Amino acid sequence: MGRKNRHIFQIETLPLGCDGCTGAMMVRSVKLANDTHSQRTCSMKTYNPESAPEPEAWLELDEQERIVLVEAWHRAAHIKLPNVTAHAAFHTIVENQIALNLEPVVRAMHRLTTAGLTRHDAIHAIASVVAEHVFDVLNTGKRDDTDASQARYLAAVERLTAATWRESGD
Ligand SMILES: [Zn+2]
Repeated sequence: MGRKNRHIFQIETLPLGCDGCTGAMMVRSVKLANDTHSQRTCSMKTYNPESAPEPEAWLELDEQERIVLVEAWHRAAHIKLPNVTAHAAFHTIVENQIALNLEPVVRAMHRLTTAGLTRHDAIHAIASVVAEHVFDVLNTGKRDDTDASQARYLAAVERLTAATWRESGD
């Protein structure tokens, strides 16, 4: 795993409000904001988990805008969830990783959808690994460096299969 992934997954900031979710993306957002400056019009108005958002358009949104779009889709689809905002935040984490081309996550998406999961279910499957990882970090107090933490997460994503996901859902 290269250095470039270092800031993609700063887990400590993720579960609660994504306050400054990832350094890399913030830098990128600022850069995009400067690049596009006056003509910054959000090209992305809706989110649909069954089709991958165009990465540039997705990453151009700030974290809160992404979560709002994901929430809106779930509300419109009348999907019952205990906490739609938390659900949307996990979707957003996974979509960010795909948009940033984090290879194990991209591979997992391909593997899961090839095995018959819908894209939406595949997002949920990967999000379940994110959630486990968050739980692990919060409960064991594992505070090793970011690279080690991310390596554990990515290894778990690599192990994820449609079969293990279906079993866990029972
Ligand atoms: Zn969902």
